[in-house]
Amino acid sequence: MQDLIRQLIEQLGEDPNREGLVKTPQRVEKALRFLTSGYAANIDEVLNEALFTVDYSEMVIVKDIDFYSLCEHHLLPFFGKCHVAYIPRRRVIGLSKIPRIVDVFARRLQIQERMTNEIAQVILEKIDPRGVAVVCEGTHLCMSMRGVEKQNSYAVTSAMLGIFRENARTRMEFLELLRTRTASMAGLPANVPLACINE
Ligand code: ZN
Repeated sequence: MQDLIRQLIEQLGEDPNREGLVKTPQRVEKALRFLTSGYAANIDEVLNEALFTVDYSEMVIVKDIDFYSLCEHHLLPFFGKCHVAYIPRRRVIGLSKIPRIVDVFARRLQIQERMTNEIAQVILEKIDPRGVAVVCEGTHLCMSMRGVEKQNSYAVTSAMLGIFRENARTRMEFLELLRTRTASMAGLPANVPLACINE
């Protein structure tokens, strides 16, 4: 990978042997390996011994999980907050594992829509809850750095499964709980702007 990065630096019109750039290929490789480490992660290992059977059937919410991902169209970062809720049937996930699940899917080449769905799907699969809801709000540097319109806007994506999809009241309860601290939720789920302009 380092040879490729050296070539890339050259193609950009720079001198890869310049003092400040000599170690850049090494650093870029290390950074990229980390930022895409989600491919190698095993979700069952991540969840290892953190699935519990409990008698609890109220909504579980973990709000404001930071995520950092790379847009697959431009290999530029998009990042923001992810909010996850589910209603257990019998099993729950240790709360600290929810941000780990988000990392597994964020640390890949992604589009925000797919990342949002993958987080929801894996929770559905692993604990068979009555429903799962995931909302992600992301700033996309491929839009803001390139001066694409709405530079200061961010994309909101949501995935609603099970009872969150079927029952408007449950969905609204979740969105209300988010809104108490996240003013931007006002329009959900009607307006879902483009996460990344694919050009
Ligand atoms: Zn992009």
